[in-house]
Amino acid sequence: MRTEIATLGEFGLIKRLTEGIKLENESSKYGVGDDAAVLSYPSEKEILVTTDLLMEGVHFDLTYVPLKHLGYKAAVVNFSDIYAMNGMPRQITVSLALSKRFSVEDMEELYAGIRLACQQYHVDVIGGDTSSSLTGLAISITCIGEADKDKVVYRNGAKDTDLICVSGDLGAAYMGLQLLEREKTVLKGEKDVQPDFTGKEYLLERQLKPEARKDIIEKLAAANIVPTSMMDISDGLSSELMHICTQSNTGCRVYEEHIPIDYQTAVMAEEFNMNLTTCAMNGGEDYELLFTVPIADHEKVSQMEGVRLIGHITKPELGCALITRDGQEFELKAQGWNPLKEEK
Ligand SMILES: [Mg+2]
Repeated sequence: MRTEIATLGEFGLIKRLTEGIKLENESSKYGVGDDAAVLSYPSEKEILVTTDLLMEGVHFDLTYVPLKHLGYKAAVVNFSDIYAMNGMPRQITVSLALSKRFSVEDMEELYAGIRLACQQYHVDVIGGDTSSSLTGLAISITCIGEADKDKVVYRNGAKDTDLICVSGDLGAAYMGLQLLEREKTVLKGEKDVQPDFTGKEYLLERQLKPEARKDIIEKLAAANIVPTSMMDISDGLSSELMHICTQSNTGCRVYEEHIPIDYQTAVMAEEFNMNLTTCAMNGGEDYELLFTVPIADHEKVSQMEGVRLIGHITKPELGCALITRDGQEFELKAQGWNPLKEEK
């Protein structure tokens, strides 16, 4: 079935998409339906705000990304930025610009993904806007969250001798993207064969349906650890480490042998004839957390499931370097994915 958006109009569309939304968070006082939403946060909290704009053809390719997954991912990457401040996401607003190619049903799919993510992470959709677009789909999500005033973690707090920790594993989302790009002609229906993703499910999941590490933030709180600095890994470990070190005025040493990599990522890198460490260091879109803790927390973090120690912070004059398995030192370079840099 295909219902043209014009048959509902803008208000009709918003009404259809936001139907049945129940506000779950205490701080969400009033959601969709008036000129503005109303939020009410207790005074002992800091309020965190982050926003993200995704453009079709730049950030996503609808040839292989289902709209529901796109909605889910668009929401989750915003939550990830709030967790990266050691906070909890509570509300989002969703703005969409869409060309005539999209139907009401398409937008329902997209919204189903957004709403699923919100349900999963206990976040309320409190508003948004829709507009027509001349070229494809644009999605902008703004996320609002909260953190205890003394627990907000910035990028600039890393200190010499701090330990560098990372959650999960790295490079899988990038490998998933490579795989989807390779199968693109098949997925477009240009070839009469089925793409074979057997044994590579994890890579696809990491690319198409990433999760934000709420669990790590909860574990850190339970262990009474406040990281000295933290970021989520969206552009690649190298690039994020350099952000932390630049903003904290430090250097760092990370060890190749400690970088967490999944087996499927390794197999795929070999198949593509790519350097595995480069993929893990620069791949991006992992949405894992990178954080530093004082050396006194060594015992606590080393016992934490899903967290790996990968190196330590140094004085700034030592620069940022990767130590390879055979003991060589390579200066870190940010080759992170950056669409603004790519277009020359
Ligand atoms: Mg971030």
